[in-house]
Amino acid sequence: MTTAYDQTLQSLRDAPRSWLVTGVAGFIGSHLLETLLGLGQRVVGLDNFATGHRHNLEDVRATVGAAAWSRFSLIEGDIRRPADCQAACRGVDLVLHQAALGSVPRSLADPVTTNEVNIGGFLNVLVAARDAGAQRFVYAASSSTYGDHPGLPKVEHAIGQPLSPYAVTKYVNELYASVFARSYGLASVGLRYFNVFGPRQDPDGAYAAVVPRWASSMLRQEPVFINGDGQTSRDFCFVANAVQANLLAATTANVQALNEVYNVAVGDQTTLNELHAMLGAQLAAHQPGLVINAPQYRDFRAGDVRHSRADIGKARERLAYAPTHDIRAGMALVAAWYAAQQAAASPAA
Ligand code: NAD
Repeated sequence: MTTAYDQTLQSLRDAPRSWLVTGVAGFIGSHLLETLLGLGQRVVGLDNFATGHRHNLEDVRATVGAAAWSRFSLIEGDIRRPADCQAACRGVDLVLHQAALGSVPRSLADPVTTNEVNIGGFLNVLVAARDAGAQRFVYAASSSTYGDHPGLPKVEHAIGQPLSPYAVTKYVNELYASVFARSYGLASVGLRYFNVFGPRQDPDGAYAAVVPRWASSMLRQEPVFINGDGQTSRDFCFVANAVQANLLAATTANVQALNEVYNVAVGDQTTLNELHAMLGAQLAAHQPGLVINAPQYRDFRAGDVRHSRADIGKARERLAYAPTHDIRAGMALVAAWYAAQQAAASPAA
């Protein structure tokens, strides 16, 4: 059966567009780049390599090949500088704005820098997109915007108080996008990602996300820590689903879909204890002899939401979003990828 997404992909192949992907050297940005180049699109990327990596871009280049890579140009720059944003938006039809400083704990440790990048930088990209006459501005919002609202599943209109500076910044992004739609007619779509995971997500550093951090620790036989009792739950979303949401949002002809925010997730709820068991089993399948030890429990982490599960009905209805990977399918792919990375890093092991 041909899906709406299949049709979107075909129409992009038939009539290529010019895209800007900010945060292109990051985890999600590099997947957007890979998919767009594979579809014959022209892509400008903007990144300052704050948390992204050149090896992500090298990985994309190796995957798509030289001909596709020639349709990509990188601007090494900072979204905090308006001139960099203007240069990046020149001649671009569609903007996928991913650049930001992620991580709740990072924002608690340094709220000022998170604010400068995630709000000041966001505004610079928004202004540059407006001035360049971009047709669509799709941006990375966040499930953290639900804050302390107890409702489950999370529905777009019911949000609570933010629990971290990071959550404040992502909510302000939504407010600015909405004001730019009303004041200047810039068509935007906000995508509230829920715990996206997949290949190339950075396992290193103090602010690594749970899936890559645990995968890396398990493969190195280092202890895995669970913050809290392990019953904290999340709606883990494989990166291919997030890519799909971006492409649908950027190209939809449904005017009712514009100037709205959408949950981007699967609609499932998985506890950290379940995640530990699932990831451990998948990694062991890829690395025979790997011993998966019991996790070590420690204090709950400040600023964390206790439970999270998305209602994806709005994205289904208005964007024709239909996730292709549930957590198990995604976890199998990601385990294979981290195991291969580990094997390449220590071939003698
Ligand atoms: P990432 O850290 O891998 O990617 C972010 C990219 O932005 C990096 O390449 C980084 O170098 C770049 N960047 C940061 N500051 C910049 C600046 N000042 N100028 C230019 N580039 C800059 O993170 P990701 O997981 O790919 O996240 C992408 C977006 O999605 C972010 O906006 C993040 O807040 C949002 N998000 C992610 C998740 C998730 O689960 N991964 C969940 C909710 C929201």
